Amino acid sequence: MTRQIAKEYTAELLTIGSELLNGSTVNTNASFLGSFLTSSGFKVIRQTACRDDLQSIILQLTQAFTRADLVILTGGLGPTPDDITREAVAAYFRVPLKFSAGQYRLISKWYRQKSKKIPRIVRREAMFPQNAVPMINRYGIALGFYISTGNKFIVVLPGVPSEMQKMAHESVTPLLKKKFKDKRAAFALTARLVGISEPKTMALLGRDFFDVPFEFGIYPYPGEVTIRIQAASRNIIFRLQTKIRKRLGRYLYGETDSNLAASLGNLLVRNRRSLAVAESCTGGRLSAMLTSNEGASSYFLGGVTAYSDKVKQCLLRVPGPALKKYGAVSGPVAIQMAKGVREQFQSDYGIAITGIAGPGGGSRKKPVGTVFIAVAAAKKCRVYYGLFSGSRGQIQDRTAAKALELLWRELK
Ligand code: ATP
Ligand code: MG
Repeated sequence: MTRQIAKEYTAELLTIGSELLNGSTVNTNASFLGSFLTSSGFKVIRQTACRDDLQSIILQLTQAFTRADLVILTGGLGPTPDDITREAVAAYFRVPLKFSAGQYRLISKWYRQKSKKIPRIVRREAMFPQNAVPMINRYGIALGFYISTGNKFIVVLPGVPSEMQKMAHESVTPLLKKKFKDKRAAFALTARLVGISEPKTMALLGRDFFDVPFEFGIYPYPGEVTIRIQAASRNIIFRLQTKIRKRLGRYLYGETDSNLAASLGNLLVRNRRSLAVAESCTGGRLSAMLTSNEGASSYFLGGVTAYSDKVKQCLLRVPGPALKKYGAVSGPVAIQMAKGVREQFQSDYGIAITGIAGPGGGSRKKPVGTVFIAVAAAKKCRVYYGLFSGSRGQIQDRTAAKALELLWRELK
């Protein structure tokens, strides 16, 4: 009996569009597909952005197929003359473009449903390379297609990120499962840490952590670090996970792609607790982070951007004398703000932030980057003092992340 050996397959991304090269559009398709393919078990070995130019696309395709088992291409499938991806793919395979009446009916239906007249140029959208199999795009009119010949497999998707992402999940996943049946399973591990730097993470992991072979990546975000690991066996992943939990448990808030605000939200839901926030120097960033995840309404009641002293006094009931005596950027004022917002919103927790984001406004005693964050609960209120560095935006991001961390620690 012969046993099938699992293989590691490689993939390349080819994102088409002159707007990706002149800087007017951020190439989010590349980052989405990089993550999509990696978690599907492919080794993504290269990504290239390419102008809407026939010869450039043909050249990049030729090179990509000398290296990779799978090439995914996005963009340039629209009806306008600048969209020439289908022509380039047909030219690469040396096949003509063919009109698909079936696909044209689908496009016509899409227009009818929207009570629109079908423009003549849209006929182009029903043209496919002769050897292609069309893929349905239920979210727009630019249809995708795939071609499978010998050892070449190419998937072509529309450029619009939302359409492309839905098609990847709905249509590409089953295709890849079928085509790459003997693909090695992906064993991966994510560890999301807060309140720790990269060097300290490495020091706590220790040298012996790297005794077994695996792929390791460590990535910093404001106030956070994420570790991503890929290994050849489940057993290795399990051993590494045990070590991470033991050595970094104090900082570990999640082992999925969910962010800190989502993890904190889960803790609040589990504890049946609600939250309101008062923000000065972060200007609403904390509220935005808290509401970035669906379901936030079950624990987040709302926030006040208390930028001026007047708002701190009138809406949050911070006593005037305290503002005068300690200044708006101070521990006592942060505490009053947290207590005030908690009372005003009748929430279980109140978080308040006050600080100097810069670049101006600092002094010798309170330099730019000085922040006070208070967390108020029914019976206690703690205040944190920090001094962050960086640009105005970086200080704001770090402060908001720190505020999430403080409440996360409180609830953990
Ligand atoms: P359409 O029928 O809408 O023209 P298409 O497949 O031709 O679809 P493009 O014309 O290349 O797609 O791009 C459509 C939109 O998607 C544009 O706004 C473009 O900037 C955006 N887009 C294209 N490629 C990417 C990418 N790699 N990352 C992010 N946005 C992209
Ligand atoms: Mg286009």
